[in-house]
Amino acid sequence: MTLRVANHQIDLIGNTPLLKLTSLSALTGCEIFAKCEHFNPGGSIKDRAALQMVKEAMESGKLKPGMTIVEGTAGNTGIGLALVAKHFGLKMLAVMPQGQTPEKEKMISLFGAELKLVPVVPFKDENHFYHTARKIAEQNPTQYWWANQFENLSNYHAHYLNTGPEIFLQMQGDVDYLVCAAGSGGTIAGNSVYLKQRISKLKVHLVDPMGSGLTHYFKHGEFKSTGSSITEGIGIMRLVENFKQAIVDDAFNIEDQDLVTMAHYLRERDGIVVGSSSALNLCGAIKTAMKAQKGSRIVTFLCDLGERSYSKLYNHEYLLSKNLQMNTDMDQLIKKYGE
Ligand code: PMP
Repeated sequence: MTLRVANHQIDLIGNTPLLKLTSLSALTGCEIFAKCEHFNPGGSIKDRAALQMVKEAMESGKLKPGMTIVEGTAGNTGIGLALVAKHFGLKMLAVMPQGQTPEKEKMISLFGAELKLVPVVPFKDENHFYHTARKIAEQNPTQYWWANQFENLSNYHAHYLNTGPEIFLQMQGDVDYLVCAAGSGGTIAGNSVYLKQRISKLKVHLVDPMGSGLTHYFKHGEFKSTGSSITEGIGIMRLVENFKQAIVDDAFNIEDQDLVTMAHYLRERDGIVVGSSSALNLCGAIKTAMKAQKGSRIVTFLCDLGERSYSKLYNHEYLLSKNLQMNTDMDQLIKKYGE
């Protein structure tokens, strides 16, 4: 038994457990494992990127005592940066687009960061949350340091140096497929590169929500998308430095109804309450399993706390407004992916 005693909350970032999903494994004939990133102290996988970005910026001297970290975020990176900032005695300003779950907005404030909400606009608009954060730092570079999770490769390093090695050890080097969604791409990049350097048989599948252009980019070299998604923090319509590092073998989009079915099936069947990107990842895992050799070992991620999706994924009225059903028919989903 290894029980951790940490002196600081940031020392609890990473080193997360792996959960074998026995129900999904039995249904697909493959072994499906999920890295429990909701165990991080800020409740998501983005704690890892937050810590690494801050550490490397302090080491290089770009981030100095007394400065404020500023970042454009769908929420989880803001929460991670807020708790890391607090540890190092720094301030944090999170710029978030409106319409993300209020659960994340509240957590950013509780962790002590200032929150600036901006309207949802296309990326090319200068008022986009990404540009808003960038401009704040550009206008006052001695006071603000912009984390820039999309282009800052410390994000990729977090996974290359930590998450990848953890998975390698936990799986004893035996992984057939890594299945992963991408927001900034830090997770899929760091893990795909680290694990592919060590496991020659490994295939990496990118799982993409509707409305994201990554799958189309992977297949045709340009960003195009159809539809939209209730997921948050994943999917993107441009090529960013972190995603650029990823080594991907296949990519596919998953419809929202599938991830809603997955989330409600797991909750009802196993008592596991996952967030929306985690449900998407698990759909990607079973889709991969249905085309894979029986017995294949598949690893994916539970990226954040289920609570963080409460007002959307677990809200009947919200789902109805998006024409989504709270069904739990996993047999139908398995059949669809097997065709
Ligand atoms: N899942 C959730 C819930 C997230 O918040 C994010 C990042 N915003 C991701 C997945 C994607 O992680 P990455 O940025 O490493 O691609």
